[in-house]
Amino acid sequence: MYFNEEHNALRQTVRRVVDTEINPNMDAWEETTAPLHDLFEKMGDLGLLGICYDPEVGGQGLDYWFDTVFLEEIGHIHGVGVQGAIADQTHMATPALHEFGSEYLKEAFLRPAVAGEMVAAIAVTEPGAGSDVAAMRTRATKDGNGYIINGTKTFITNGVQADFVVVLARSSHAPGYHSFSLFVVPKELPGFSVSRELDKLGWRSSDTAELFFDDVRVPEENRIGTEGEGFIYQMRQFQHERFAAIPMSYVGARDVIDMTVEHIRQRVVFGKPLSRKQVLRHRIADWLTEIECLKQLTYHIVRMKNKGMDVTREVSMGKLLAGQMLRRITDGCLQMFGGMGFMNESLITRYYRDVRAASIAGGADEIMRDVIAKMEGL
Ligand SMILES: Cc1cc2nc3c(=O)[nH]c(=O)nc-3n(C[C@H](O)[C@H](O)[C@H](O)COP(=O)(O)OP(=O)(O)OC[C@H]3O[C@@H](n4cnc5c(N)ncnc54)[C@H](O)[C@@H]3O)c2cc1C
Repeated sequence: MYFNEEHNALRQTVRRVVDTEINPNMDAWEETTAPLHDLFEKMGDLGLLGICYDPEVGGQGLDYWFDTVFLEEIGHIHGVGVQGAIADQTHMATPALHEFGSEYLKEAFLRPAVAGEMVAAIAVTEPGAGSDVAAMRTRATKDGNGYIINGTKTFITNGVQADFVVVLARSSHAPGYHSFSLFVVPKELPGFSVSRELDKLGWRSSDTAELFFDDVRVPEENRIGTEGEGFIYQMRQFQHERFAAIPMSYVGARDVIDMTVEHIRQRVVFGKPLSRKQVLRHRIADWLTEIECLKQLTYHIVRMKNKGMDVTREVSMGKLLAGQMLRRITDGCLQMFGGMGFMNESLITRYYRDVRAASIAGGADEIMRDVIAKMEGL
């Protein structure tokens, strides 16, 4: 109903990459983390890293239905780590560059990111400031025709492998939200370092870093857009990140259910396959109903996005629901696996670890509720 032959062609391309280049490697990458330069080069060659971006920078210039197809197929990756690493490149670290970056920044950083020649990361969170972004302490102090950046960023996806990091820093002492700027910081700048690679509960196929900025001199031309508007740009950028989480979540939830149905069909308990137990069948029917509702909300958001409407309210609702639903369904499915669901040889254990972050990363559930409540005038 929503997708035509062109969408289906893109779907087949992404599916082929997931089935041949990603999923066969996922067990190994859970041990070593995925080699992003290698993977992104392959995806860039197929035009998959800039589906909605301007052809001028190597993108495909397609609408958000194509983007949704891409995200739905990425959701079939057997591990949220690589899903997150890819979405970081396409929906987290580069949208502001595309929307507000100068010609120079687009040529030097966005074009190579879309081509898969450079790995990108976005650095907002700090040890003392996560949900409360405005509490950040990283400073960009004006110095001649550039800025000196000092501070620490943490939980940065792709931070170890990134060639450049988009950094949000306070660039003036003025109160309010117009005192932050977004900068592109290439990793080779003196004073920039990956101070720690973090060990995580899940997302083990992706790297997550703590980054240290020690008097990093960044030329003025590396500032994205207008000075002081970085916070506003980042809030817009978050909408892309949060949207990306929704299709990946409902597809992932469906995959977990399919995996579980396969198990309960062959698992005989009290003389019958578990799938014959009405209580389990009804539980699964409830989950499938919720997944369909979230999918329809997503398609509603896509229609709004294609019309250029503000989707902050709907994306916040979708992200909140996606995280909660994915966690609940994965937990319930693991229960249906019994003891096998607790053994690492079962793929469901990876999903169980990975999906916990869905209610934290990219804005925690509580923050989504705050946004929704505010927009509803509460
Ligand atoms: C896997 C993973 C990948 C990530 N990748 C990146 C990345 O690439 N770049 C980046 O910049 N960051 C990244 N993050 C960081 C992420 O965005 C933050 O963890 C998140 O925003 C929450 O911030 P915090 O961890 O500081 O928690 P805190 O802000 O300390 O919050 C702790 C808890 O308190 C709750 N809370 C906060 N405020 C309120 C309130 N007003 N009312 C009620 N409850 C509240 C929160 O919801 C949360 O549950 C990543 C995190 C994870 C887990």
